[in-house]
Amino acid sequence: MNLIRVALDVPVARLFDYRCDDPAAKIGARVLLPFGKRKLIGIIVARPEQSDIPPAGLKHAIRVLDEQPLLGKADLRLLEFAADYYLHPLGAAVMATVPAALRRVRSRDPAPAAYALTPEGAAIDASALPPRARSQHRLLSLLRGNPVTPHATISDSPAMRSALQVFIAQGWVQAATPAVPSLPEFQQAAAGPALNGEQTAAVDAILSSLGHYQPLLLQGITGSGKTEVYLHAIAGALARNTQALLLVPEIALTPQLQSLVVTRFPGTTVATLHSGLADGERAAHWKAARSGKARIVLGTRLAVFAPLPTPGLIIVDEEHDSSFKQGEGFRYSARDLAVVRARQAGVPVVLGSATPALETYRNAVDGRYRLLRLSQRIHALPPQIDCIDLQNDQPADGLSGRLIAAIRTRIERGEQSMVFINRRGYAPVLVCGSCGWTSDCRRCSAKLVLHLRERRLRCHHCGHDSAVPVACPDCGNADLAPLGQGTQRIEAALAQHLPEARILRIDRDTTRRRDAWPDMRNRIRDGAVDVLVGTQILAKGHDFPQLNLVGIVNADSMLYSSDFRAPERLYALLTQVAGRAGRGNTRGQVLVQTRFPGHPLYAALRNQDFDAFARALLAERRQAGFPPYMHQAVLRAESRNIDLALQFLENAARLARGISTAVSVYDPIPAGMMRKAGRERAHLLLQSPSRKELRAFLGAWHPQLATAASSAVRWALDVDPAEL
Ligand code: ADP
Ligand code: ZN
Ligand code: ZN
Repeated sequence: MNLIRVALDVPVARLFDYRCDDPAAKIGARVLLPFGKRKLIGIIVARPEQSDIPPAGLKHAIRVLDEQPLLGKADLRLLEFAADYYLHPLGAAVMATVPAALRRVRSRDPAPAAYALTPEGAAIDASALPPRARSQHRLLSLLRGNPVTPHATISDSPAMRSALQVFIAQGWVQAATPAVPSLPEFQQAAAGPALNGEQTAAVDAILSSLGHYQPLLLQGITGSGKTEVYLHAIAGALARNTQALLLVPEIALTPQLQSLVVTRFPGTTVATLHSGLADGERAAHWKAARSGKARIVLGTRLAVFAPLPTPGLIIVDEEHDSSFKQGEGFRYSARDLAVVRARQAGVPVVLGSATPALETYRNAVDGRYRLLRLSQRIHALPPQIDCIDLQNDQPADGLSGRLIAAIRTRIERGEQSMVFINRRGYAPVLVCGSCGWTSDCRRCSAKLVLHLRERRLRCHHCGHDSAVPVACPDCGNADLAPLGQGTQRIEAALAQHLPEARILRIDRDTTRRRDAWPDMRNRIRDGAVDVLVGTQILAKGHDFPQLNLVGIVNADSMLYSSDFRAPERLYALLTQVAGRAGRGNTRGQVLVQTRFPGHPLYAALRNQDFDAFARALLAERRQAGFPPYMHQAVLRAESRNIDLALQFLENAARLARGISTAVSVYDPIPAGMMRKAGRERAHLLLQSPSRKELRAFLGAWHPQLATAASSAVRWALDVDPAEL
């Protein structure tokens, strides 16, 4: 009996066995299946010898949909690793990565992509065909001349299509696999700027690693020309007739990067994979990657799973970025999987950043990754970074006198400035001065943010949205006051201090419209803006030549946090923001407003010495027993009621303590933000100095969790959590 084991998009954490006698039933191919009363598309992940289901209970697959499997063996191997490592069902993992359009059952099954003569068909003589059936004669000679004839070639007329039906009915033709299109000849990359010495050394190191597994950390300060290094490395991979995969953070996949890649590799097909694509587009790009037609694949997190028949090089830009870790469902780290994929495929992987994740940095320091450095800015000196001590310069509205004066000077010189604040809205909370009422979200442990322009109170966690009350709901006091600053308030304050300035606010609220941001970018480039006010959106990869001053407001709010990664993240964010200053001919200036100018983080930032900062943090982490010296997993639970969640975690902890002593099992605690959208959340932390021990433990523990859970509790295991 021929069996197939398939991944299906159903909320059941297992694979399904079917009978299937189709010789095209290859691993990685899609197959149409009966499932209950429905038809579903599954992906074949194995061809088992036998099934746990008795033969009578096994249904027959309807038909195989792909001549060439949608996922190659190596692509599937990565998914198998990821499903195993992150303890996510393989079926769900496969289905989460394959574009939706390829998983949808269409009303009509697609025709095979190509046909070939069967032995019977090959044996017939043209004289056996009706003499006047000209299409049948033509079909026979087509198939004879072409061992594998694409469907499109055959079905160019209704007469040809009916001739094909006759041949199928006679058993003269069968579905066949079209030859994989040969890779188009690599054209020399269009010339970019001549590389400097450090860039040349980095490119040489990557090129000499092509053809074998080698992780490399490209640690280059902002503006040091990392992208140029990537482009040259990609050219090297293409010249060897292999594909290059370039992963970038969610927000950084800008049209500029896409068009840069396309211009530099004319005649080369570039597939792009990100969440902004329509289903059909995603499927087309995916197929281009799979067929090998796309030599360069550019994408965000999920693209780490893009099927590649001939991978040659993997690059992860801004590898420290938190968007590489998926926070829900299939909680994988695309950065870590990029390294796994490179190892499986035997190719180099380049992780690039100005501020590498400490996990990566440690691997480089310990010599597991080869370290490449770019220490010079291409176009300008590194910016000068200073702190403004808020103890001496008390801002009434969030902006210190020194920052306003500095912005004014830049405006007078015709230069641009940017004020960075990490919060959108007008103020993070509204308070009643007489009774102490605060604008709390009822469904979250969070405050409703005042959006003054829209006159709304909004929760940034659950989406709650209500009108601003005219008086205090508790005491009726009509004098409600906003507390703290958001982008809207800084914008208003700037307008007040600098009435002549042209100010542009850039945050999620002003960039929601699809082409809002490109429009704004053009205005900035055209010099139609004097001061930008914005959030993280402004931090990444944008190059504004007239921007010479960056003011950072409210960084202190990110300085003290319960998350041990907070300083690492803040340093990376501020470095990136500071990097926007001074890309033109003038040295940039960065002013950080703070009440703690002596804090070691700000001291390191002023010196722009990431290495010293990273070494200090690593020493702390080693002492405190945190990653990367420990490997962690977190069991997260949520329920209507925190006690239910904690109860489940207590049970889970008890089970855990019975399994292994090599893993530390902490006490369950409520999450930092306990309530979110009406659910109450808690977690249980587990850690071990040995990744191997932790994995073995998780493998034994995970199956027991289902029995410990009640239906009132939703839980998920997060391996290598990015936050607690
Ligand atoms: P990074 O990504 O390291 O912050 P970029 O790759 O954005 O830096 O490079 C900064 C700028 O320098 C870009 O405009 C880029 O085109 C330019 N550039 C890079 N390398 C060179 C070079 N060798 N000569 C001249 N310009 C370069
Ligand atoms: Zn009140
Ligand atoms: Zn809320």
